[in-house]
Amino acid sequence: MSDEKKLEKLARQIKVCTKCELHRSRTEGVPGEGPTHAEIMFIGEGPGASEDKQGRPFVGASGRFLDQLLEQAGVTRTDVFITNVVKCRPPGNRDPLPDEIEICTGNYLEHQIKIVNPSIIVTLGRHSMGLFFKGAKITQIHGQMRKAGDRFVIAMFHPAAALHQLSLRDTIMADFARLPELLKEARAELGKSASKTKGKAPKRRK
Ligand code: URA
Repeated sequence: MSDEKKLEKLARQIKVCTKCELHRSRTEGVPGEGPTHAEIMFIGEGPGASEDKQGRPFVGASGRFLDQLLEQAGVTRTDVFITNVVKCRPPGNRDPLPDEIEICTGNYLEHQIKIVNPSIIVTLGRHSMGLFFKGAKITQIHGQMRKAGDRFVIAMFHPAAALHQLSLRDTIMADFARLPELLKEARAELGKSASKTKGKAPKRRK
């Protein structure tokens, strides 16, 4: 099966998933969207009210702010894969529970990451950060890029945090302003390690 078809299959499964309690209150499951082999994947926390209605990630107030941050960083939204830790809206926008995160990431996000195979993952908020950096504090590592296996992970605050806490707005904007520089650094490093292994590393796609 092609990678595109594998992602479509996961998306269909997400839409009818009943593996955790979140399915009871959802309107639409939100699988995520973007090119099958996007170089960059953004991972948010979980759908909010607008996403739950439309079945698409980051289309509400935080999405509009994310669009602004991406534009400022010179990143085209349609070039990146955008998804969430949990695919169904936690009621009242509460935090996803540990078992919901475990079930959803094990069944869906981990497969999406494997299929898309992004070189760079940008985590939005502490829940997605926690998947890569156990025990890290977002207040300490926001804006930083670290190697996780054969990819780079950049931890960012969640855009919604800036909507609720105006003091964070400048911080997020400053972190995203450094994104082009971090992407350049990651691409240079990945290019170096690919040439060291004489083309044996998985081929990166645009
Ligand atoms: N917040 C998220 O974490 N994800 C969305 O898709 C929307 C808001």
